[in-house]
Amino acid sequence: MKHAIPADPSNPWLSHMTEAVQKCVHCGFCLPACPTYVALGQEMDSPRGRIILMKEVLEGTTALEAALPHVDRCLGCLGCETACPSGVPYRDLISPFRQMAMKTRRLGLMAKLRRWSLLQTLPYPGRFRLAAQLGGMARPFRGLMPASMRPMLELLPPSLPAKQNFPEITPAQGPCRARVALLAGCAQQVLAPEINRATLAVLSKNGVEVIIPREQGCCGALAWHVGAGEQARTAARKNLAAFPQDVDAILTNAAGCGSGLHEYPLMLAGTSDEPAAKAFAHRVQDVSQFLANLGLIAPPEVQPMTVAYHDACHLSHAQGVRSAPRELLRAIPGITVVEIPDGEICCGSAGSYNVDQPEIAADLGRRKAEAIRKTGAQWVAAGNIGCLTQIAAHLRSGPQPIRVVHTMEILEMAYAGQADKADR
Ligand code: SF4
Ligand code: SF4
Repeated sequence: MKHAIPADPSNPWLSHMTEAVQKCVHCGFCLPACPTYVALGQEMDSPRGRIILMKEVLEGTTALEAALPHVDRCLGCLGCETACPSGVPYRDLISPFRQMAMKTRRLGLMAKLRRWSLLQTLPYPGRFRLAAQLGGMARPFRGLMPASMRPMLELLPPSLPAKQNFPEITPAQGPCRARVALLAGCAQQVLAPEINRATLAVLSKNGVEVIIPREQGCCGALAWHVGAGEQARTAARKNLAAFPQDVDAILTNAAGCGSGLHEYPLMLAGTSDEPAAKAFAHRVQDVSQFLANLGLIAPPEVQPMTVAYHDACHLSHAQGVRSAPRELLRAIPGITVVEIPDGEICCGSAGSYNVDQPEIAADLGRRKAEAIRKTGAQWVAAGNIGCLTQIAAHLRSGPQPIRVVHTMEILEMAYAGQADKADR
């Protein structure tokens, strides 16, 4: 029997969700591209299975609680969108579904506490630094902690880098070719401030003036992807007000944040801020894409090195940025870029996924580390702090040391004439 999705004026995303559901022709081409289907082999943990489940919940023929375990296992990596020949906008379904589910789902006390503590620490660099420092001290006693809190400890680097403060304006070196505003990121500022340092150095070297707006905040992606819509919308509105209009682009160097900024129109759908969110998202670019379009000032030759480039899902699948970072790395004489087998499959890092689904996250992390080792590369580069942290944690135990760095760090190193540098 055919059912229809009933109208719901309180749901601003219903038309997006309905369109996504209706576009799916159930062909199954997305199944092998889905990390949870690869890991678990269950139809209900595939994109097609989830789309059917969410459709049935919207129609009222399946209970929300029956669908949630499978929906919760979705990483939001959007590998399914890349693989789908029918152009199903899966992102327009999954995140709105989570906002909807959050209003009625029943979470246990530990799950509530976990969610609350993540949403109250990760988006705030000061709080996150304190939590990471406490986590570092607690590491020797992790056996005494609740199992659900341990995965975060495993991901923390052995020592936390010193806090770095960056100027509000970094001038261009030489003639100014462009003026941009940069999103500084939250967890990234704490775990790897060297990524922002490298980004500023590379942009400045390429004649780009960079503004880091002081009033900016978290992009809101973490809250949005776990269904905390009000927190996400507050974050989005703060950034809409904080970022200047008179710049050539709004740049990000963390794929998850960039993808989050591109989702502002969806987050603010049906509100008076939707037009501003659309204009804002139109100006957002990943730093690699911006530099490749601008034309990179040729870096000097470095000692021969092989770099495996890892496609962060939120850069490749969510933003379609694949060739730009590879082009930038190949522009450095001495560097050979190699591809990682099954590179389109997620590494298992996706916001709070390591905490919410630790077994699948660890399985995907191990698979990614093995695939990277197969390349024989001494370095692995990516454009997302979440992937870098996850990959570094899973490579740490391996026999051969492999350096894990952001694409901008390799460029910075090349411009500075350094053959080697510290890594995380
Ligand atoms: S590939 Fe696209 S149309 Fe086919 S089942 Fe997957 S989401 Fe649906
Ligand atoms: S977003 Fe990723 S994990 Fe979720 S259904 Fe699509 S491919 Fe699978």
